[in-house]
Amino acid sequence: MQAIESLVTAAGGAKPLIGGVVFLLLFIGERIAAAAPRPEIKHRLIHNFGLWAIVLVMSPLIIAPLTAFGANHLLWERPEALRAGLLFLIADIILLDLWTYWAHRAWHRVPVMWRFHKVHHFDEFLDTTSAFRFHILEVMFSALLRLIPIALLAIPFTHVIVFETVFICAVMFHHSNLRLSAGFERALSRVMVTPSIHWVHHHAVMKDTHSNYASILSLWDPLFASRSATRRTPEMKIGLESVEDKPLLRLILTPFMRRG
Ligand SMILES: [Zn+2]
Repeated sequence: MQAIESLVTAAGGAKPLIGGVVFLLLFIGERIAAAAPRPEIKHRLIHNFGLWAIVLVMSPLIIAPLTAFGANHLLWERPEALRAGLLFLIADIILLDLWTYWAHRAWHRVPVMWRFHKVHHFDEFLDTTSAFRFHILEVMFSALLRLIPIALLAIPFTHVIVFETVFICAVMFHHSNLRLSAGFERALSRVMVTPSIHWVHHHAVMKDTHSNYASILSLWDPLFASRSATRRTPEMKIGLESVEDKPLLRLILTPFMRRG
């Protein structure tokens, strides 16, 4: 039990390192073996890295303290028997993933939330960098919303950090343009969200945009009737139907503009 706990703590502490290594592997991998041809889109990486830089600066100032605050204000204390052990860690990751599925659905379906989440969907191509292309207020509000299941279920802080590590790696993977063998991707997609599932979520056709909301486990969309029947193809148009991407400053301001 003690060994698993220390392993979990170590994994939590290694979050930036694990995230960084996975990012580099995918970023290089998708340039060596691409699934879809990379179009020439001016300033696209500047937009993605620009939005990411804002999150990176704000994260230690607001997001990380918010998660730590939540971990210190749980509504009840789990008995030791319900805290330690791999089984409870896996259960917490599944529950937080389920929460994230419904939160993502809300980001699409609640009009004021959609104004912010659209910034992510304006991206006209996908690769690992798309995983970090979010409006800072969406990232902050998502962290705030996540305090609800953490407080209600009294999820240990280390479990939250391990979830966040798995989550960010899964998000980088399912946005990536990495070419995988069709058989391997099909098998993997039965368990987890692969690029073939998530790219359909970014297909520039509205009914596909509002589908395939899952992040880590792929079962949530079939379970809650939100899986699109569209199959990903390398030529699939990515972005939002009849909308063009915007300059960086516009991306930050667009949720507040009348015609955002
Ligand atoms: Zn979305």
